[in-house]
Amino acid sequence: MTNVIYPTTNLKAVEQLVLERGEGVYVFDNQGKQYLEGLAGLWCTSLGYGNQELIDTVSEQLGKLSYSHMFGGKSHQPGIDLADKLAGMVPMDNAKVFFGNSGSDGNDTHIKMLRYYFNAIGKPEKRKIITRERAYHGVTVAAGSLTSLPANLAHFDAPLEALGILRTDHPHYFSGRQGNETEAEFVERITGNLETMIVREGPETIAAFIAEPITGASGVIVPPAGYYEKVQAILNKYDILFWADEVITGFGRTGNDFGCTTMNIEKPDMMTFAKQLSSAYYPISASLIRGDMYEAMIEPSAQVGVFGHGYTYSGHPVACATALKVLEIYERENLFERSAQMGDYLQTKLKQFADHPLVGEVRGRGMIGAVELVANKQTGKAFANGSVGAYAVQRCQEHGLIIRAVAGNSLAVCPPLIISEAQVDELIEKLGMAIDETLDFAKAQNML
Ligand code: PMP
Repeated sequence: MTNVIYPTTNLKAVEQLVLERGEGVYVFDNQGKQYLEGLAGLWCTSLGYGNQELIDTVSEQLGKLSYSHMFGGKSHQPGIDLADKLAGMVPMDNAKVFFGNSGSDGNDTHIKMLRYYFNAIGKPEKRKIITRERAYHGVTVAAGSLTSLPANLAHFDAPLEALGILRTDHPHYFSGRQGNETEAEFVERITGNLETMIVREGPETIAAFIAEPITGASGVIVPPAGYYEKVQAILNKYDILFWADEVITGFGRTGNDFGCTTMNIEKPDMMTFAKQLSSAYYPISASLIRGDMYEAMIEPSAQVGVFGHGYTYSGHPVACATALKVLEIYERENLFERSAQMGDYLQTKLKQFADHPLVGEVRGRGMIGAVELVANKQTGKAFANGSVGAYAVQRCQEHGLIIRAVAGNSLAVCPPLIISEAQVDELIEKLGMAIDETLDFAKAQNML
């Protein structure tokens, strides 16, 4: 028993794996056992472990200027260059960039910028935010209120009422369909519900709709074709902003530069990045807004004297230099294209599990996927709790593969983008053994 309070862990049954070092796509525990990192840490170590170029970048920047803040317009070249680079990459008009430290605080920043912006343009009543069931947008008090997973809300008195969070359907056809509904009918129904809610609440009271283009923590939900086109048409009709939370899907994860590209989401008004922005070599987030939103916020900030929001580590020079180098490596190594090709390979391999008696659905795009274990393959009935998923994860670990079970019993895979074909084979083989063993376990427990 250590004195650490473990995040997102059953505090009573703390199970520990003590990792000591990493190399490429592998990590090693304190007994020297090797594991393939099948979830890239927490969906973040895109360039794997021990990348010498990144180690050098961090250490050089530490040596040059280990810290500088950005308050009052103080700046440094890595921060300026990173904002320019990001603005040039995203599918947004004249994007402006605010830096933070984590996906959660990046989303908090956006909530505050939304208020600031709508106050600035004389629409102070436009403040509610639509999120989706099963969404994950972080765990701070505000971003945690946008998250819809029960464990992140229960006992925390969340969501914070004052934020005016609205929840609409999640877009997972497999678990959300009704009766014999087709995918198109499902999309029609849930986007119909969205529009009904907007009209009921009053569009003039709603600021934005937030979505992970493809979700992570809620089970790697890939919405059906046409879903985002319909959502965006509704949002445009009622003058509601589209806010893409690309904390997981940004930078090649889904086989394209951004999840928005993969899912045909046109010109989001806001984008949040973290994780793969620095391949987790240094914490950083970026909250991007449209250039004209920024312009509108200038005058009010002059009235008060400042735009009164900023973290001590907003634009930490080491984080910015690291992220710049990471983006350079993505480009130089053609990692987004590689991710598309290797992603096809990974998805084809994962699909082999679709016939397994324990598997209800296999889904994913590019280098992110999930295998959902179900109690009844024919009906898709879910298990009553997450014990089957937890068992599978434990078996994977035994075989030297680290993954996570999300949304109960969906086994998520999201390996570093640098993974080789042989290493994908290794991942699949180990995952397959674990799923077979989990079937035996579920049978022995009379859970099927
Ligand atoms: N948004 C999404 C889509 C995420 O997946 C996460 C983290 N998994 C967050 C926000 C929060 O990021 P962080 O844990 O860095 O605060």
